[in-house]
Amino acid sequence: MQKIREFHRQSVQDRDAFWAREAQRIHWETPFTQVLDYSNPPFARWFVGGRTNLCYNAVDRWLDTQADQPALIWVSTEVEQEIVYTRAELSREVNAAAAILQQLGVEQGDRVLIYLPMIPQAAFFMLACARIGAIHSVVFGGFASHNLAQRIDDAEPRVIISTDAGSRGGRPIAYKPLLDQAIAQCAHGPEHVVLVNRGLAAMDLTAGRDLDYATLRARHLDAQVPVVWLESSSPSYILYTSGTTGNPKGVQRDVGGYAVALCASMEYVFGGKPGDVYFSSSDVGWVVGHSYVVYGPLLNGQATVMYEGTPVRPDAAILWRIIETHRVNALFSAPTAIRVLKKHDPALLTRHDLSSLDRIYLAGEPLDELTGQWLSEALGKPVIDNYWQTETGWPILSAQPGVEEIPPRFGSPTVPVYGFDVRVVDESTGQDCGPNRKGVVAIEPPLPPGAMSTIWGNDERFVQTYFRSFPGRLTYSTSDWGLVDDDGYWFILGRTDDVINVAGHRLGTREIEESVNTHPAVAESAVVGVADQLKGQEAMAFAVLRNPALLDEAGGRDRLEAEIKRVIEQRNGAVARPARIMFVNSLPKTRSGKVLRRAIVALCEGRDPGDLTTIEDPGALDQIRSVL
Ligand code: ATP
Ligand code: MG
Repeated sequence: MQKIREFHRQSVQDRDAFWAREAQRIHWETPFTQVLDYSNPPFARWFVGGRTNLCYNAVDRWLDTQADQPALIWVSTEVEQEIVYTRAELSREVNAAAAILQQLGVEQGDRVLIYLPMIPQAAFFMLACARIGAIHSVVFGGFASHNLAQRIDDAEPRVIISTDAGSRGGRPIAYKPLLDQAIAQCAHGPEHVVLVNRGLAAMDLTAGRDLDYATLRARHLDAQVPVVWLESSSPSYILYTSGTTGNPKGVQRDVGGYAVALCASMEYVFGGKPGDVYFSSSDVGWVVGHSYVVYGPLLNGQATVMYEGTPVRPDAAILWRIIETHRVNALFSAPTAIRVLKKHDPALLTRHDLSSLDRIYLAGEPLDELTGQWLSEALGKPVIDNYWQTETGWPILSAQPGVEEIPPRFGSPTVPVYGFDVRVVDESTGQDCGPNRKGVVAIEPPLPPGAMSTIWGNDERFVQTYFRSFPGRLTYSTSDWGLVDDDGYWFILGRTDDVINVAGHRLGTREIEESVNTHPAVAESAVVGVADQLKGQEAMAFAVLRNPALLDEAGGRDRLEAEIKRVIEQRNGAVARPARIMFVNSLPKTRSGKVLRRAIVALCEGRDPGDLTTIEDPGALDQIRSVL
């Protein structure tokens, strides 16, 4: 690990030299005069005085060498369609989109809200905004009117880009009525709504406000919209965190720092080079979709696959089929998607030629040891767990094969990524913890390029939310527990708000989940702390079985429950043993695939589960209600 350690050391100790060098990866219209301005902590301004543009670097810069090579590969198993856009075709679409925005009066600094499913127009309009210096706010297409209205009110967009419908499991899901309801709830609606009509659902149009994308596009198809060169720390976009804690925050990002950080990460973290094909299955509405469906691969001259569909339809081999067809070099997905695949025929994993694929990256939630190992062995490919947040924009902890290959350790996202001065901090003393001591994962500021600049419109909340957790120091708190072992491998031990207190013992629910998941019959699980008169709190476990038919065998349920309890007792001690292990077919998750523990707790305690607008499948909660 010597090389990777040294690389990291340089990035934090010799910060200016390190980032000045990395900044040469992108085109600067005007060179920066200062690498970092940190005169007003914790606010960091990167590449001060430099002027650049994300769209220019993602599209125009590659036209000389890659005009006819694939840039955006769109695959939809929802509407059975595939379109490959070359860099030149992408440029044409982005210019048309930029011309549409300009025609509608959008100027530098104006906000544009994008409420679209996984269709190419989402990328066109993001890049078009970047081109003219407008600030995009992409809202996940699965959100309904309440979430949407909150985000419209927060950003006050001049224009909204939307559509008649998305599609899920082959069935259209209307967007337009939700958008209309949302706008009706808002104090300041947009001046215009541009609608991509996919012909999936009928739309009611508001005359004067609602416009047809195809008509506007035809009018502007040969437009050449000049790039607006932006000061490096101008805002590029706003993106809300997933809301797992029930409290989404509007993360604001810059231009120059983001371009540099993402471009560098494509090589160092993702082992990519210009011409490679990158496939992230995330939705564009999430941070992974921003950084690694749209910006990262394109900035580094790579092609990106944008996928509309689920990992199991038409069958559970679809991800591998896309990799085979488009000769994908790296896949980025989420543990939740892989756990779903675990419930299907393992033969599907080896049906396709995956010789182009170097590595698989998973992020967004803990990757349990067994799932990581299972996938890696089944495919014969390295599986890289990477840990980060919407706030940071790119990985904080990850293997970095582009720097040095290090031995993997399942259950650990391995080591800090260059640029992030990561610490484990004791919450009560504010001191750094030694090896093997659990504390809060924290980042010593300044945050590196590409990380959030502030919370949109609320500098004070930025400081309060992230930098005031530890006594006596202005350090960024991730609000996740972690520890570093003797070999320097890092472990994430759950969210600080997921800790439960059983008879005076503080236990992380995530550690108990890990134990439940080691039982070979279990596909995934959720453990929560439920109020208990005697002990304060008590653990309660919900498990999804790989093969639910086990429950129908005589004594099957009792046997499994006893076995799982025994594993927990052995690994976490008797205090951690849940009162009950309940079996369900699915867990309630947010639309980004994270378990909604707070909703489960509420049901267990007989309370109202509260705001459920981010839930993926309300049926999963009904099932928990019924097993309780
Ligand atoms: P909110 O902050 O609005 O409650 P959120 O934290 O779920 O939502 P994200 O920024 O999408 O929003 O998620 C980041 C969080 O996801 C991390 O803080 C961590 O808890 C979890 N996470 C991400 N990647 C990993 C990983 N590889 N291992 C463990 N946990 C992870
Ligand atoms: Mg968070």
